[in-house]
Amino acid sequence: MVRLTLYNKFFFLLIFLIGFSSCYSQKKFTVVLDAGHGGSDVGANRNYSDIGTVQEKVVTLSVVLKLGRMLEKNKDYKVIYTRKIDEYPSLTYRTDLANRNKADLFISVHVNSSPSRSATAQGTETFVQGPNQNKANLDVAKAENDVIFLDEKDKENFASYNPSSPESLIALKIQQSKYLEASLTIGGMIEDNFVKKDKRLSRGVKQANLHVLRMNAMPSILIETGFVNNYDDAKYISTEEGQQAIAESIFNAIVNYKKLVDRNVKEPEPEKPVEQPLKNDFRILLMSTPNKYTENDPALKGLKYILPIKENGTYKYYYGTTNYASIRDNNLKTAKDSGFRNAMAISFVPNQKLGIGYYTLEVYAGKEKLDSKSMIMKTLPDIVRNKENGVFYYTYGKFKSMEEVINLQKELEGKGIINTVIEKKLK
Ligand SMILES: [Zn+2]
Repeated sequence: MVRLTLYNKFFFLLIFLIGFSSCYSQKKFTVVLDAGHGGSDVGANRNYSDIGTVQEKVVTLSVVLKLGRMLEKNKDYKVIYTRKIDEYPSLTYRTDLANRNKADLFISVHVNSSPSRSATAQGTETFVQGPNQNKANLDVAKAENDVIFLDEKDKENFASYNPSSPESLIALKIQQSKYLEASLTIGGMIEDNFVKKDKRLSRGVKQANLHVLRMNAMPSILIETGFVNNYDDAKYISTEEGQQAIAESIFNAIVNYKKLVDRNVKEPEPEKPVEQPLKNDFRILLMSTPNKYTENDPALKGLKYILPIKENGTYKYYYGTTNYASIRDNNLKTAKDSGFRNAMAISFVPNQKLGIGYYTLEVYAGKEKLDSKSMIMKTLPDIVRNKENGVFYYTYGKFKSMEEVINLQKELEGKGIINTVIEKKLK
């Protein structure tokens, strides 16, 4: 299927293209609905003994008005009609109207007619503007472009256009390739609905040089809703039910197309200033307590990255370290959310040397003396032992900055000595 291949292939181009028209987030999605022909231009028509005369201009207006009412129920859409009554707006007027309103989508509704009187042709087809055409598409282009109904302005616009001249083709290609992929996408969605929802016969999405699409600066399609000279088609498109089904199929496709556009157009993100690091480090003080807790103690409420610092016999438990304000605030929130309602951020001057006193590492505290054969004693034979209130405290190292003692702590963890506590000694 042409549609699927193109959809994938041009997906990114589509995103790129649609971006232009949807830069303004609050802007409504503007759809121009063009009921083909009108007034003295009857379009394709056929008289049947039982269903009467089926006129293209009548069918197209009826389908367009039904479709417009569906779209107008949703405030996200702005609907512009090229005509709402039986009149003939020039092709130039229809195009100008769409361009002037910076429409997001142009939908022209038509009725087909096959050249042969045998009326074997049946079903729907949707045209997008494009230079790749075959003989059959040229016939449609010829019928829809019929110069008899062009007004003076149209003649001026289109007379100089020669589809067989290379210059015209190149100009056309440049102008229309911008919207070709998006047009193919919406066209494919509509034809898909005709087949799956309405059980119609689809002749697919095709390219043709159509005056009414040629100058449009937006994704544009021309839908042939059925063949007037095919009895089944004629009956279908001339009935209330048939027209309603056609309108619904187009409506559903527009809604899904808009979703696709919305999903793929991201608002340009405002240039975020890069957060500058703060001069100080920040840790979140969770609590001060005489109790010594190890890593997984329930008192720490599951928080990791805890740094206990002992000062004057009190253990202060700090959570996280950062020199970014956003992370600090986030860490504080995490601490509070975990149940430390009085948590606060404390600033630490990096690599600050203590004027008086020093940092050491409390490796062990307990009522029992460490055995000389224990892992700690073997690893750190020159460890210092003190006894206070019946508890033995073993400390190791003397450092002027906290960074140095943290490095030692990490080094010991590597040797299997865990749950050590940094201690700040002021004498
Ligand atoms: Zn037509």
